[in-house]
Amino acid sequence: MAKNYSQIEKKAQELLDSLKINELPIPINEVAERAGTSVTAFDLGDDISGVLHIKNNKANIGYNPSESKVRQRFTVAHELGHYILHKHDEKDKIYVDNENYFYPLKFRTTNMKLSEQDYEEEQEANAFAAALLIPVRLVQREVKNYNGFDLSDNSMIVELAKKFDVSMQAMSYRIFRLVDAGQI
Ligand SMILES: [Zn+2]
Repeated sequence: MAKNYSQIEKKAQELLDSLKINELPIPINEVAERAGTSVTAFDLGDDISGVLHIKNNKANIGYNPSESKVRQRFTVAHELGHYILHKHDEKDKIYVDNENYFYPLKFRTTNMKLSEQDYEEEQEANAFAAALLIPVRLVQREVKNYNGFDLSDNSMIVELAKKFDVSMQAMSYRIFRLVDAGQI
C-alpha cells in the first residue's frame, strides 16, 4: 500500500473536524465544496459514475445523477478522496470512475487497464470515502444505541445505512472492517 490506511482515516476525520461536521448524514456535497472543489451533476453516460477534473489547479467533481442517491454520495466522496490524497503536483489531471470502482477486484476481470498505482489509488479513494461518510467516531456513537450487536442481524445494518445515508453494502463492509480492526 502506498499510503497507510490509518493515515487515510486520519485525513478524513481531520477534514470533518476542521469543518466542524459531527451530525449524520454527512453533507458530502457541502464537505467537498468547502474542501475546495465544485460539485456538479453531469450526464456521464451509463457506465461512468464520477469524474474528478483538475484544470489549472481548479477541481471539479462530476457525478452521475441517474444513479441512486447513496451511490452519488459515495461517488462524490470517492472523487474527493482522489483530490485530497492524489492530486500530487500536476496542475491538470482527470480521474474517471466507472461503476466498478467500489469493487476493485472486478477491475481485474474487465478490460480496464489499471496499473498497480491506479489500482492502489482506487482502493485508497474508496477507503477515504468510507472513512468520510461513515466516520469511526460516529459509528462508535451509533452502535452504543444497540445492546451489543449481532453482525448477522441485518436490521441493524439497514438502520445504520439509513442514518449514514449510504448503501447497505458500504455500511456492512465498513462495519466488518471496523470490527476486524477492533475499533467497534
Ligand atoms: Zn477513482
